[in-house]
Amino acid sequence: MEEIEVLIDEEEIGLKVREMAKVIAREHKDEKEIYFVTVLEGARTFSDDLIKEVMALGGFKVKNYLVKVGSYGGGSESSGKIEVKKGLVEDVCGKELIIVEDIVDTGLTLCFLKEYLLKEKNAGSVKICSFLDKPSRRKVDVNVDYVGYVVPDKFVVGYGLDYGGRYRELPYVGVIKG
Ligand code: 5GP
Repeated sequence: MEEIEVLIDEEEIGLKVREMAKVIAREHKDEKEIYFVTVLEGARTFSDDLIKEVMALGGFKVKNYLVKVGSYGGGSESSGKIEVKKGLVEDVCGKELIIVEDIVDTGLTLCFLKEYLLKEKNAGSVKICSFLDKPSRRKVDVNVDYVGYVVPDKFVVGYGLDYGGRYRELPYVGVIKG
């Protein structure tokens, strides 16, 4: 197995996720329910932890919708043409949604998903919560409302992020050496 250089360790991840959950909870304290939209597969680990932390703060009803989006033909790099691979069957009309994503890279995926939720699903509003942000690679302007860490222009793995289906289960975020 390749050697991995740790960028963000397990303890730092835990603290950051708790901090993000507190901010979201504070900003939504007057709402009856918080509606998350988790982008499969990469964001699942972060989303599970984040939602657990929000629920641990008490007093919140939470709904987590699951969507899958990707470039036409698959591949790890966004081709620029994104499609919905598993859409929302639930009615989110008028709801205030928070997209939960693992990483914002070019921004194309989130730009597309935001449009899909607002225009096709008639969501009331859409915010974005991403654990990682790689702003140096941005191709389209996308406003990320909640960010965990800004990372350098390197291909990162772990904490849900994979490389060819591997490394998702690593408890830390790292870069493959070499
Ligand atoms: P976008 O370029 O559309 O902002 O990013 C789309 C997707 O590319 C992300 O959700 C993620 O699945 C993948 N991606 C972007 N950068 C990285 C990276 O550094 N590591 C991994 N594992 N996936 C990435």
